[in-house]
Amino acid sequence: MSTIQDAVTTARESFNSGITKSYDFRLKQLQALLQLVEENSELIEEAITKDFKKPTFEVNLFETTTAKNEIRNVIHKLKGWMEPAKVEKPLPYIMDEVFIHSEPYGVVAIISPWNYPFMLCISPLVGAIAAGNCAIIKPSEITPNCAEILSKLIPRYLNPKCYHVVTGGVPETTTLLEQRFDYIFYTGSSHVGKIIQKAASKYLTPVTLELGGKTPVYVDSTADINLAVRRILWGKCLNAGQSCIAPDYVLCTKEVQEDFIKSAKNTLKTWYGNDAKQSPNFARIVNSNHFRRINKLLNDTDANTAIGGRHDIQDLFIEPTILKDVNLSDPIMQEEIFGPILPIVNVKTAQEATAVVNKGEKPLAVYVFSNDKQVQDMFLKDTSSGNLLINDTMMHFSCDTIPFGGVGNSGIGAYHGKFSFDTFSHRKGTVIKKLDKVGEYMNSSRYPPYTKTNLQM
Ligand code: NAD
Repeated sequence: MSTIQDAVTTARESFNSGITKSYDFRLKQLQALLQLVEENSELIEEAITKDFKKPTFEVNLFETTTAKNEIRNVIHKLKGWMEPAKVEKPLPYIMDEVFIHSEPYGVVAIISPWNYPFMLCISPLVGAIAAGNCAIIKPSEITPNCAEILSKLIPRYLNPKCYHVVTGGVPETTTLLEQRFDYIFYTGSSHVGKIIQKAASKYLTPVTLELGGKTPVYVDSTADINLAVRRILWGKCLNAGQSCIAPDYVLCTKEVQEDFIKSAKNTLKTWYGNDAKQSPNFARIVNSNHFRRINKLLNDTDANTAIGGRHDIQDLFIEPTILKDVNLSDPIMQEEIFGPILPIVNVKTAQEATAVVNKGEKPLAVYVFSNDKQVQDMFLKDTSSGNLLINDTMMHFSCDTIPFGGVGNSGIGAYHGKFSFDTFSHRKGTVIKKLDKVGEYMNSSRYPPYTKTNLQM
């Protein structure tokens, strides 16, 4: 464990030397990170496929290509982001310089999950580098091939004194959290998020917690059902449902439910044939613990299986499965599913659907499929969630001009695009006054002895 302490000490010494603060240094590190992804895409893709048979197309699109696009965008915008941000000047400061200076926090910890094991390490790292920090990155132990490749490549491409990968599981993360950091960026479950926040409180370290939860989908009869089904099932089947913003369950009327199921049968057959197990386009559950957890939710839920239901523990395969007429009290509705099972709960109206959403913890996202502006507006104003996406699933993730993050139980803080730069920067409000006699005339009323005339000035 001493290597963890050594890594943090080295990073702190490097940060204190000031090396990471210049534009040139940040730019070079980002260019090197881009080179890392460009030159090793195949190796990275192989490692992740080995970890849980994620289809190569999905790895390419959501891990390496997303990472490359993000780095290129930040390289393009970095200089502007580093400029002092001008603000409005209140009257008494009209003669002064007033601005916000973005300064790096220092040494940051980035602790990541297994479901997008490369991108969820790299994306926060891009923000940390852009903002001028040093970073210790802790990938998930559940995807060891990806963790290994990160620990080999990062020191080879980036300045090894500033950026270091720690591998391991709970004991290593616990040791890591005993160190003093200036910022902790954590992505993972809400349960572990609480452990992270508790550890951070020792040094009052600020945190971003990118957590999970049950993301609801509402579908009404104004929506084109075939399009809605394709977009919902795409979000549910991608990565075999193991995405933080995967649609967790559907709320709709009984009539919509029947149309939904009919359309879903066709869609799934077109995508995966008669047996999704034979399809190269469908990922596996990451390990046997998660397989058993999901399977137990399925077995304990006394609902009708409308589609799917087959599984194979040897292959960690769970078929895309749709459950109909599910009750809110069923086990599957008590926790984030994080697998390819989609329960449908019947509601009569959009108001009833918002009431269901509001009864649970605040979700990471809410998805609404409706062409009724009033319904869209109702979800916007009457529910609270990290993000809201109307008539699609997942796609808000790559819209980097809006913040991505949770609220309440689904997280604290947000990132992506400029929001990542801001997350990893302390925004130092700065006022520069002139030390001259003209300015001092404005100050004269604040000094003792206090008189009524002072107050009138
Ligand atoms: P996890 O919380 O089990 O693990 C995440 C990280 O925390 C890993 O690096 C792990 O080593 C570490 N960790 C685990 N237990 C720990 C403990 N007791 N003490 C200290 N560190 C510990 O999460 P996971 O299973 O890897 O990921 C799935 C969860 O992450 C889901 O809830 C999902 O919704 C969420 N998630 C959220 C986002 C987001 O952007 N909001 C993205 C991906 C996943």
